Amino acid sequence: MHFPASNSPFPQFRREVRWSGMATQADLLNLAMEYHRAIPERIRRYLNGRGIPDPVIDLHLLGWNGERITIPVFDRDGKLAFFKLAKDPEDPAAGPKMLTPAGTHAELYGWERVRVKPCRIVICEGEFDRLVLESQGIAAVTSTGGAGVFRQEWAKEFEPIPEVFVCFDRDEAGRNGARRVARLLSQAKLVELPDEVGEGGDVTDFLVRRVKGREEFLRLLQDARPLTREETSDPIGKGRAASGKGARDDVQYLKSRIGIEKLVGRYVSLRMRGENYVGRCPFHDDNDPSLVVYPKTQSFYCFGCRKHGDVVDFLREMEALSFGEALDVLRDLAA
Ligand SMILES: [Zn+2]
Repeated sequence: MHFPASNSPFPQFRREVRWSGMATQADLLNLAMEYHRAIPERIRRYLNGRGIPDPVIDLHLLGWNGERITIPVFDRDGKLAFFKLAKDPEDPAAGPKMLTPAGTHAELYGWERVRVKPCRIVICEGEFDRLVLESQGIAAVTSTGGAGVFRQEWAKEFEPIPEVFVCFDRDEAGRNGARRVARLLSQAKLVELPDEVGEGGDVTDFLVRRVKGREEFLRLLQDARPLTREETSDPIGKGRAASGKGARDDVQYLKSRIGIEKLVGRYVSLRMRGENYVGRCPFHDDNDPSLVVYPKTQSFYCFGCRKHGDVVDFLREMEALSFGEALDVLRDLAA
């Protein structure tokens, strides 16, 4: 990650942090503390307004890097793995709301909750949703990869937790993602957010924008249902993921449904240049926009590290996924 020396108003941020073993834990923790101390009052007020009060901001060390809200994400061993970066609410520029820094892959946000084996936990979709639930005294976790990524290796850590609820966004990607998580966790129940949150509505819409309370959310949990037999035995799209011609057709179909610029734009701020898009490469420490995305050929190429490929390659590299896992994610995005 790189902070431009010229336009950062915070001298302490004028440094680079490399994620692949270059920065020590102490460096990263110090950085988290610096970011936390630098959080402007207006950002605190914004977070308060979206259901995250000061004690939760302080406990989870939310911060500010001069451009974006920083959310430190700790791995299973309690080490600071990376910062998720949320957009400045007053930044008028288009671009992803959340950025995942270069070279990181999906992590579970909230390992400290899983580790203490609570009697009840909610798996939700998004870092802020998780903090909104925590603010209501409800133990919650999320995948930093969103609804599409939940790793099999995380699942066994949930086994000792008697009640596991999956509450994703009220849209197709959310429903598919929730079913996939529930297939990995036998005790999991699916929580359906009511119509009133609207299509694409989430936990924050329910608790903050619709001003529902903790009790009303707990009632949703009571109404949660396990997977039906059909959902358990017939995972969506699994048949289409078979090898051979079917799989090739499937990949072609998915590629045609998901513009590569849209997928890359979930991770990288892209600017249009001619008929292509350019952005800072997430696969190397990129000071220039070296990554070029070619909508015409649905491919990308980095002039710095020479990584290249299609949507599947990008997603696999970005989230450290197998081919099949990447297709699952794309299928959800295409839905
Ligand atoms: Zn690169």
